[in-house]
Order: sequence, then C-alpha cells, then structure tokens
Amino acid sequence: MEIKKDARVVVCGAGGFIGGHLVAAFREQGFTNLRAVDQKPFEHWYQRFDDVENLKLNLQEAAACQKAVKDCALVYNLAADMGGMGFIEKNRALCMLSVLINTHLLMAARAAGVRRFFYASSACVYAHDKQTDPNITGLKEEDAYPAMPEDGYGWEKLFSERMCRHFTEDFGFVTRVARFHNVYGPHGTYDGGREKAPAAICRKVIKAKLSGTHDIEIWGSGNQTRSFMYIDDCLHGIQAIMNSETVTFPINLGSEEKVSINQLVDLVEDIAGVKLKRRYNLDAPKGVNGRNSENTLIRKMLGWEPKIPLRDGLEKTYAWIYDEIVSGKEEHAVVNRY
Ligand code: NAD
Repeated sequence: MEIKKDARVVVCGAGGFIGGHLVAAFREQGFTNLRAVDQKPFEHWYQRFDDVENLKLNLQEAAACQKAVKDCALVYNLAADMGGMGFIEKNRALCMLSVLINTHLLMAARAAGVRRFFYASSACVYAHDKQTDPNITGLKEEDAYPAMPEDGYGWEKLFSERMCRHFTEDFGFVTRVARFHNVYGPHGTYDGGREKAPAAICRKVIKAKLSGTHDIEIWGSGNQTRSFMYIDDCLHGIQAIMNSETVTFPINLGSEEKVSINQLVDLVEDIAGVKLKRRYNLDAPKGVNGRNSENTLIRKMLGWEPKIPLRDGLEKTYAWIYDEIVSGKEEHAVVNRY
C-alpha cells in the first residue's frame, strides 16, 4: 500500500502501551498528520507528543468514533479494556464491552471513506482444548476454530475479528487483523493489576532486590509456557501486515521462543543478579497451560517473523521499570484510572 507521509493516520488506544509506541514510530518515520486517541486523561498516557493531535475520547461511543476517524486515511484500533490474566479473568464483562469500540470504529471508518483499518486481536482467540499441554509446539491460525476462546476477552477478540472480515466481504471495506502473542517492553503497565507476566516479574524481582526480602510469588506452578514478543517486533509486524496486499485474514504476530514462567523468572533473576526464593500461588489466575505462536504463515506471507531474543528485550524492559521505580515515577505506572 502506498501511503503519503502527510496522510492523516489515527491510532486509537494511543495512551496505552502499544498505541503509544505506534504513534512514536510513525513520528520517527516522518508522518506529519497523526491523531492519537485514548479515553485516559492526557497526564496518564505512557507517551504523548505535542506535534500530534491528541484527543481524549471514549471510543465505546459512536459519536466519539466519528470524531476520531474524521478525514483519516488509516485507522489503527489498539483501544481495548485490557490486562494480564489477573485482570481478564475477573473482568469478563468489561472486556466484552470493548466490542463497542471496534464496532463503532468500523462503522465510522467505513462511513468516512477510510482506506484501511487495523484491528489488534490476540492469541486469546485460540480454542482452549488446543492449549492444555505446556509442551505445545505452536498455535496455527486455524486453531481458533471450532471456537472456545478465553472467556470474555477472547470472545470479544474473535467476534471483532469476524466483524472486520464481514465488513470486507459485504462492504469491500479493507481490514487487517493481527493476533498478538504477549507483547512486552518499556512504557507499558507494570503495576496496578493490569500488568502482564514479563512486566510483573520484572517489578517483583526489582522490589525483592531493593527491599532485600529476596523472595517472589509466582502465579501457578510456573510450568505453564508462553512466548513473548518485544515491542519493536510488534511495531514492525503491525505495519507490515497493514501494508500487505495479501494478508487479508487474521494472522499470528508473536515470537516462537517458548519459555515456562519459571524460565522467565530465571532470565529476570539473571539480569538483576539475584536468586530469589520462589513461592507458588496455585490459586492465582494462571491462564492456559501452554501457548506459543506458530509462524509458518507469517514467514510465508511476509518473509519475516518476530525475532528479537527474549533476553535482549527483557534487559531493556527491566532497565526501564527499574528506573521508574527508583526514580519514584512508580505512581505513573497505575495509569488505568479514567
Ligand atoms: P493498554 O491497556 O496499554 O492500551 C489500551 C488503551 O486503550 C488504554 O490506554 C486504554 O485507556 C484505551 N482504551 C480502553 N477503552 C477505551 C475507550 N473506550 N476509549 C478510548 N480508549 C480506550 O494495552 P496494550 O497492551 O497497548 O494493547 C493494545 C491492543 O493490543 C489491545 O487491543 C489489546 O487487547 C491488544 N493485545 C495486546 C497484547 C499485549 O500483550 N499487550 C496481547 C494481545 C492483544
């Protein structure tokens, strides 16, 4: 897709982790007509730029979506009520309500003559019975059906994926959908209840180290497996998928570097230079037993796949969270207050 640098591009969910990085990436690439939308107060956005049109809007509302997409060539929807397992297992209705965001955005974007629309889906769309084994090799795109996704959050993602598909089939409206597998990096949530495993473990290790308590609580047995994608790979993938003429269906965007949660803790301990006593909380939310991305399709379609080693990405994430905590900016981490 040819897109001029002065075309108006809107990033929805721009006050959040991935949306904030996406706006930053477009700026670096020389885009001059950027719009950033989020419902959080501006002071709680992870990244905000004065040369971007920043709007505070509740995108569950149709009128807000019309404002957000007005005169835009491209729409990136990264807005959702979202969090790690601790949040999504306890807030299923809130997660389902994000269906209003994508639905109203799609309707508004189509009416406004938007050229192309990106939707951030998730590995949580995959069927539960394909994720019972920690030794899982990887989830292929077809493993989403027959459908039995993560309750609440996953159903919303699957429904919204299909809404994109039917807008394309019925109305010829061009959409692109990526299924993100656990994204991590600096400028994201690491405290307050919505954080995901890499950020949570970095925070816990840093706090144990600074306080001298030298122990850590781990959710579940620690044997559950996941893969984690560093934010730079995610940003590259979003743009490659959006610009592609052939990736017209939901596709995995994730790393194939599978680790157990215990191995993730090993890595963070190594970066921190500490060894902690592990306490396993078997009653805590832990999600499915095994989840990993299977990248055959993205390799074939784009000749690329996420490849930043977990260790490298974790070092950068750890360093950012460490600075936030020791510089007293920690309060800023709990940004999901509206
Ligand atoms: P995030 O919580 O940091 O960002 C989401 C942003 O959406 C928040 O800033 C929030 O305020 C905003 N938002 C929520 N409801 C809104 C509304 N009604 N109106 C306007 N803004 C609203 O999350 P993230 O990690 O940046 O995730 C971005 C997208 O990627 C989400 O759709 C998420 O479901 C998806 N995703 C993320 C991951 C991951 O590992 N981070 C994995 C799979 C999918």
